[in-house]
Amino acid sequence: MNPYKIYVLYYSKRASDLSQYMEGDTTKAPMEAAYYMWVVTNGEHTVAVDLGFKEDVGHRRDRPWIAPPGALYDAIKIDPKSVLHVVVTHMHWDHCGNYDMFPNARIYVQERELAFWTGANLQQWKASVEEADLVALLRLHFKGRLGLTTGIQEIVPGVKVHHVGGHTRGIQVVQAETAHGAAVVASDAVKLYRNLKENVPSPKGHDVPEMLQGYKLIRGMLAKEELLLPGHDATVMKRLPLVDDHVALAQ
Ligand SMILES: [Zn+2]
Repeated sequence: MNPYKIYVLYYSKRASDLSQYMEGDTTKAPMEAAYYMWVVTNGEHTVAVDLGFKEDVGHRRDRPWIAPPGALYDAIKIDPKSVLHVVVTHMHWDHCGNYDMFPNARIYVQERELAFWTGANLQQWKASVEEADLVALLRLHFKGRLGLTTGIQEIVPGVKVHHVGGHTRGIQVVQAETAHGAAVVASDAVKLYRNLKENVPSPKGHDVPEMLQGYKLIRGMLAKEELLLPGHDATVMKRLPLVDDHVALAQ
């Protein structure tokens, strides 16, 4: 098996403050939140991780695109139409908008994540999802294009999902074997490097003890800190080498 590398596609950003990302922060230090999609590939197998939000949704929610996701896929010379596997880490609006970019992919989401958002909790939490995206996902389910994962599951050789929960009921992370050991695309299971490093949860999670348990699991999987890909940490683009405008590479 060829080792995997992971492209980080940086497609949107928003001015925020630290209290939105670190539980108990009182400094409210200004910070920029970044929005990413990830692509795990070894040339033979490619797994897209998360789909970003659509442009109109970004405008409505005050996060304009800084680069169109399609152009970022062009930059890494991967045609989304050729991608056969897409992992949706969780169903929050900023992670699962652009299903139509991947007409040939199987979409992997944890069964308990889908159950949460289609069950009794939707009314209370519905601001966190887009109605159109939820309906689009159910249409894919109807067509037999969902891969409903439970716990740990291999997607292609050397790439696994792990349910961690915490941030949402069914959030999953992606573990990929690189030339330097296991990398983890944590998405919002770890929003900032600091959450994991300082063992401080991010606010507004569904289950804080489960989030901290997830941090422990992720630490156990990771070969080294440079191979962690957090969900919204803008410093990813400074820590990792850039291969193009708005594209970083972990390997
Ligand atoms: Zn997010």
